[in-house]
Amino acid sequence: RAKSAGSGLFARYDPQMHSGLVERLQLGADLRRALDGDANELQLHYQPTIELRTGDIVGFEALVRWRHPVRGMISPVDFIPLAESTGLIRPLGRWVLAEASRQAVAWGFDQPGRALTMAVNVSGVQFDQPDLPQIVASVLAETGLPPDRLCLEMTESVLMTDTEENLAVLLSLKDIGVKLAIDDFGTGYSSLAYLRRFPVDTLKIDRSFVERLTGAAPDAALARTIVQLGQSLGMATVAEGIEQYAQFLALRRMGCDLAQGYYFSRPLPAGEAGRLLRDPAAIAA
Ligand code: C2E
Ligand code: MG
Ligand code: MG
Ligand code: MG
Repeated sequence: RAKSAGSGLFARYDPQMHSGLVERLQLGADLRRALDGDANELQLHYQPTIELRTGDIVGFEALVRWRHPVRGMISPVDFIPLAESTGLIRPLGRWVLAEASRQAVAWGFDQPGRALTMAVNVSGVQFDQPDLPQIVASVLAETGLPPDRLCLEMTESVLMTDTEENLAVLLSLKDIGVKLAIDDFGTGYSSLAYLRRFPVDTLKIDRSFVERLTGAAPDAALARTIVQLGQSLGMATVAEGIEQYAQFLALRRMGCDLAQGYYFSRPLPAGEAGRLLRDPAAIAA
């Protein structure tokens, strides 16, 4: 960048750029330490998934949290990209998988007759590693979670970039028997043709389409289209980010299968999520 600016070898000093770089390096070192250490800086919170027809809890999504000793809570929106650019997503991703699977077994997801699913977010960068299926298989073996109790969430970009390689990885994951979901569905550019080729079980309708159901200029067309798309492809649909009763009703009427959102529950620390599972009357639906 310095060269293209025509200023020779050295970049003009930009305090903002400098502090940004130093900050990222420092934060990367901190994240490495958090992963190695045993101070429990990294934790998972769990947000329930609700069956719209019955109001039952049918599972949880694990969402990573980083309690930095100096900066306090750092959002995954801020540190997942850092983990991706530093390669730390690999150990972090494995840790999330193992911790969520261990928790699922502790909650009895492995018991026959309890049809509960633990969903884990998997970064596109993790799909660049062809050994992702082996990692998943070894975590399942270590924790004893049956494969069909685990759902891996990925974004549409996994379908659209390195398509052939990622398709092979997804087919191996299906062979293991885990469920696959497309997160934030509708925000990317995946075509119908792609969607058909990939062994996807679930579409998660992005929160922006749920938001549009209510508000100043209500619009139900996109949410309805995704629900119908899921139905015609034999995929379950999950609405993300339900905050209002009216959104809950609208999606249930459309035939959407499942939902998550603050209306039901925020993501909770393991202890509180476990209490909710034992006493689901606390759920708004
Ligand atoms: P996501 O997988 O789409 O997760 C949903 C996000 O929406 C979560 O934010 C959740 O707390 C939030 N949310 C849930 N219900 C509502 C609602 O009713 N209203 C609003 N406004 N928000 C709601 P969070 O936990 O900050 O995570 C953000 C993103 O970070 C996730 O989006 C996911 O892409 C990523 N992420 C989180 N944990 C992990 C992880 O373990 N691994 C990877 N690779 N990514 C993760
Ligand atoms: Mg997700
Ligand atoms: Mg999402
Ligand atoms: Mg989303």
